[in-house]
Amino acid sequence: MLKVDSIHTYYGNIRALDGISLEVREGEIITLIGANGAGKSTTLMSISGITKPRSGKILFEGKDITSLPPHEIVSLGICQVPEGRRIFPQLSVLENLDMGAYLRHDKEGIKADLDYVFELFPILSNRRHQSGGTLSGGEQQMLAISRAIMAKPRLLLLDEPSLGLAPLIVRQIFSIIERINAEHGTTIFLVEQNANMALKLAHRGYVLQNGVIVQTDTSEALLADNKIKEAYLGL
Ligand code: ATP
Repeated sequence: MLKVDSIHTYYGNIRALDGISLEVREGEIITLIGANGAGKSTTLMSISGITKPRSGKILFEGKDITSLPPHEIVSLGICQVPEGRRIFPQLSVLENLDMGAYLRHDKEGIKADLDYVFELFPILSNRRHQSGGTLSGGEQQMLAISRAIMAKPRLLLLDEPSLGLAPLIVRQIFSIIERINAEHGTTIFLVEQNANMALKLAHRGYVLQNGVIVQTDTSEALLADNKIKEAYLGL
């Protein structure tokens, strides 16, 4: 579904990605794990078109999307939930969700997806008229994921959904991510510092270090790997 082929991404003279290659197959949950500053967010932003790679290629279903603007990448079916949620704080929950469906015209489908996100996160339904900025951190993360679902993505990019949230809320959100993958058929590319939870959820994983992929395997194999245990799982 997605093929990232040797991309190099820079911020001015700082090289954040040094020739990253990876693949995501339809229906998978893939995770990219790595320490602070390894380049995880930059990888997602390169895919969603926000930070353009200086060289290399990104193919989505065979189409070269490397130099497309972000809104065209969204309309092809890739949607990113950015780190730190970035919901619209002044807008209500419903208005935030409407913004997610901005590029869609299928009224029936939009209504069905709205019912679906309210079923996934009933708390958002209760708070539908409340402004986004007054929600708790966990609820804002739920809203950010729901807003992305409203765009009807086939590939959902999630940047550190666990960041700053209590363990109970993180478990709730991860189980919903699993449901979205299983029930909605959405392919998931998850970036996480919480490697333990991410690998337990994902089918396969990539390990990123200083802008380079240093390891890839099934999640079971990565969870059992002594180097990974020491460096990322705190075991
Ligand atoms: P974190 O988990 O802390 O978000 P990350 O793995 O997502 O880290 P990135 O945010 O992709 O890492 O950062 C990769 C590298 O690029 C880091 O060295 C970072 O300092 C640098 N970087 C990121 N954004 C910018 C920017 N806007 N300007 C300059 N350098 C940046």
